[in-house]
Amino acid sequence: MNIAKNIIELRSQIPPRVQVVAISKTKTVAEIQEAKSAGQILFGESKVQELIAKQKQIPESKWHFIGHLQTNKVKQIVPFVSMIQSVDSFRLLKEIDSQAAKYNRVIDCLLQIHIAREETKFGLSEQETVEMLQNNELLNLNYVRICGLMGIATFTEDIDVIRNEFRGLSSFFQRLRNELFIDTPSFNELSMGMSDDYTIAIEEGATIVRIGSSIFGKR
Ligand SMILES: *Cc1c(COP(=O)(O)O)cnc(C)c1O
Repeated sequence: MNIAKNIIELRSQIPPRVQVVAISKTKTVAEIQEAKSAGQILFGESKVQELIAKQKQIPESKWHFIGHLQTNKVKQIVPFVSMIQSVDSFRLLKEIDSQAAKYNRVIDCLLQIHIAREETKFGLSEQETVEMLQNNELLNLNYVRICGLMGIATFTEDIDVIRNEFRGLSSFFQRLRNELFIDTPSFNELSMGMSDDYTIAIEEGATIVRIGSSIFGKR
């Protein structure tokens, strides 16, 4: 695997307005350093312990958390994380806010929406999301900034299924933007698309793609 070459190729195919998060889970610090040598600054991890270990060794990188986050682990990543993409409950959002307050940091967050057919995947339903966004308690949270939505499509070869899921997420995102965030320009990120489906995701309006194996090779 030539990691640096993969990044340069990928970047040449992806419009500059789309951010690429290099998903480095299970990969070594040396592999991450190789990606950095090709100009990649932004990395994503899905496990707290792994993220912390790597961040200590490469503190100058930017780190997004993309996995299921238990509330009792929030305090470990809040001092340094640049975005939490996987907020899947109001309880979690409130815990991020209260931990971030201690550091006087405002944490950028995405709400993870359940769009896949698999029940096992995490995420909020559209209804839960709207309820949460209309909850007055949200007004008391000064240390989180809700920047948009994240979704993971069904694991399938059927590209029509994937496209429909991304399209649905994109239209929900637009609807929230128009109805609830019209005065909040920072609500502008839509994270969808991984190695096998990022092209479709970009066509459907992704502003952030999360790419692991196409950069680092199989896990
Ligand atoms: C692992 C992971 C990715 C990257 O998957 P690839 O198929 O290797 O690109 C993207 N998003 C999430 C949430 C992940 O857990």
